[in-house]
Amino acid sequence: MRRRKIVIFSFSKILIQLVIFLKCPRGEDGYTININQVEPGTSNQINKMVSAMSFYAYRLMVRSTENRVLNYRQLLHQYLFDMYAKIEAGRLLFIRLNQKKLRVDEYIHLKDAITNDSDPANHGKLVILPSTFSGCPRNMHEYAQDAITYGRHGGKPLLFITYTFNPNCKEMAQNQTNGQSKTDRHDLVARIFRQKVKNLMNVLVKGQVFGSVKYWLYSIEWQKSGLPHSHILIWLTNTLRLKQIDDIISAEIPTDKNLYNIVIKNMVHGPCGAFNSLSPCLKEGNCSKMHPRQFIKETQFATDGSPLYRRRKPKDGRQTATVKMKSDSVVIDNRWWIAPYSPLLLKMFDAHINAECCNSVKSIKYILKYVHKGSDQGVFTAHSSNNCIDKIFE
Ligand SMILES: [Zn+2]
Repeated sequence: MRRRKIVIFSFSKILIQLVIFLKCPRGEDGYTININQVEPGTSNQINKMVSAMSFYAYRLMVRSTENRVLNYRQLLHQYLFDMYAKIEAGRLLFIRLNQKKLRVDEYIHLKDAITNDSDPANHGKLVILPSTFSGCPRNMHEYAQDAITYGRHGGKPLLFITYTFNPNCKEMAQNQTNGQSKTDRHDLVARIFRQKVKNLMNVLVKGQVFGSVKYWLYSIEWQKSGLPHSHILIWLTNTLRLKQIDDIISAEIPTDKNLYNIVIKNMVHGPCGAFNSLSPCLKEGNCSKMHPRQFIKETQFATDGSPLYRRRKPKDGRQTATVKMKSDSVVIDNRWWIAPYSPLLLKMFDAHINAECCNSVKSIKYILKYVHKGSDQGVFTAHSSNNCIDKIFE
């Protein structure tokens, strides 16, 4: 029997039927590059094409009628992953075919090479990834440049806020159907998280809840199986005095009943140390987040400039709390495991929101750490070396 190779172009409309045939029981087509857009209202075809991202965003939209794709659970993840790969392949192909428009001949390395060796034919073809392509070195470099400019003009940022998505929020519960668990709906997690970050930024920047904002900067991280979280840096127009810090940041168990429940649910670190020797925060037997802390009557700055938040004693009328552990429960006071938080933001967003008064410009480096680390890489390729610099392959 003669064997033959079957090669499927990554933009083929039958790709999805071959990868996940359960998704297309009637052989429905997937995305291909020649689908025309239509005029809203008249449904007449126009001379513009539908992008892969618009096509799949439409397929994934939550609707009043049932959307079958969203009920595929684990298979939905596979579908999202494969289709994103298709979207990215489309973007890369566009970049490869439009290098002239991206003015590659202006890029500095090519100019240098031609200056040093006058024959351009020796330099192959330069394929460059522009800064508009998320995650590429030029894109990260641009963000780092922006951050350094903020630092130069505004000094050190005043607030460092970390917002982590709460998968038990009411928006998740309202949209899960047919007995789905939270891990079955990564599309919902992404969508709700995006809306919440936008709201949080509006509250901080336009609502000016902590005062007028001069500059702001945030990054979103989404590590492997962890929840999405956002690191936010805020430069305020006026500096914060010690007394003002207590008004916006607390590290104590609150007396307000509503806030108490939110803090105990979201802001208690650990248990670690003698209560749990397997806690991931432990480094050589000590908590890397430096718990338990000392009782402190007033907020003060340590010698290195880092803030030590007020943590008052129970005998001064402050609250204690009972935290459940695997088999036991333990009574904690203000020294134990309460991460600094903003009472206002916690009440508004009911999630883990760590708020800290910033003491150094190093925090800028922390939130842009992927500029230094580089992104995770798992793709390799073998091709002939013909003196060709190709940033897409790299
Ligand atoms: Zn710890």
